[in-house]
Amino acid sequence: MSANAPITQDVHTIPRKLPDGPVNLVGLTRDAMRDALIAAGTAEKQAKMRVGQIWQWIYQWGVRDFDAMTNLSKAYRAEMKEKFVIEVPEVVTRNVSTDGTRKYLVRIAGGHEVEVVYIPEEGRGTLCISSQVGCTLTCSFCHTGTQKLVRNLTAGEIIGQVLVARDDLDEWPEIGAPKDETRLLSNIVLMGMGEPLYNFENVRDAMKIAMDPEGIQLSRRRITLSTSGVVPEIARTAAEIGCQLAISFHATTDEVRDRLVPINKRWNIAELLDALRTYPKVSNSERITFEYVMLQGVNDSDEDARRLIKLIDGIPAKINLIPFNEWPGAPYKRSSNNRIRAFADIIYKAGYASPIRTPRGEDIMAACGQLKSATERARKSRRQIEAEAGLAGE
Ligand code: SAH
Ligand code: SF4
Repeated sequence: MSANAPITQDVHTIPRKLPDGPVNLVGLTRDAMRDALIAAGTAEKQAKMRVGQIWQWIYQWGVRDFDAMTNLSKAYRAEMKEKFVIEVPEVVTRNVSTDGTRKYLVRIAGGHEVEVVYIPEEGRGTLCISSQVGCTLTCSFCHTGTQKLVRNLTAGEIIGQVLVARDDLDEWPEIGAPKDETRLLSNIVLMGMGEPLYNFENVRDAMKIAMDPEGIQLSRRRITLSTSGVVPEIARTAAEIGCQLAISFHATTDEVRDRLVPINKRWNIAELLDALRTYPKVSNSERITFEYVMLQGVNDSDEDARRLIKLIDGIPAKINLIPFNEWPGAPYKRSSNNRIRAFADIIYKAGYASPIRTPRGEDIMAACGQLKSATERARKSRRQIEAEAGLAGE
């Protein structure tokens, strides 16, 4: 570029036209909200302050009504109401398990529905959120994988799941009350429906909002993104989100992983492990979680456990063993408790934490991999599922 080239204009000074119809403020990053306010007529020099005020109302106090934003003038509130809305997904049904797990079916624009699960634990609680309606991938043991993808969720629909859960848990502080450190919703896992790394920007923006120090304020150490292994997006996740990473590993040979997690045919075990080696350093996280679903006679032998240890050598890791959650028509069985324990023991003796995940909310079909939207239209037949799993004729 020549020394005389014009100085690039700051993007925030470019007036932007708002799309027709009111814009939802939920899900906009601070920068995007600033742009939107300016495009709606807010003076540029005031915009940053206004974002700060509105942000706090929405994400710190849980307010959805402009009229309750008492530090904005009446005239400004009226302007805001004309141009903007503060909308979260609508809760259609809410089920509570005997173990306290709550499952919400929420409706998003277009009438699609996704599931959100809240899992209470001793002194904390985890919210399992969805990133897509359905999933384009077809992991043969996963209920969501039998549903055709309908669409990606917007950042507003992703962070909106957190807002509706806080509503239901009655977890918004009294307006003006000092920050309270007790958290019913203390952790987020992106382990609901969908492949988060196939919806990268929206997931990133939503998680940035969750981590913002002025609002929901969750540390990046309390957010875990689970991926089936979208290798090209892993470095970006470390650099642009920096959350904890979980990998749906599930097999120790390419032959078996190809059948269980078909994305393995695109990026195999060696390529995946290569991408993982630099993750902890770049994201400054301690270790990667390897999720491993225990399927009877498929991936649960002592030999598998030993191969797993060899594969992950050199990667700071924890192995999370997930007893398979069966669903109607599933082509697999859960490994026996003794088998799971023996497998865990081999891994533990090699120096890795190997917790066995306790299935939660089984009575309300809220367990990992059982989520499936009620709006699902194209259910694959059992034969199709089995054919894709390479089990046909067995
Ligand atoms: N698409 C992402 C995140 C959603 S799935 C991913 O695949 O990682 C969240 C976790 O549940 C994954 O580890 C997935 O492999 C696991 N899972 C899916 N179906 C399951 C089932 N029926 N039983 C146990 N775990 C399952
Ligand atoms: Fe999609 Fe994850 Fe289910 Fe695979 S396990 S089908 S990637 S939701």
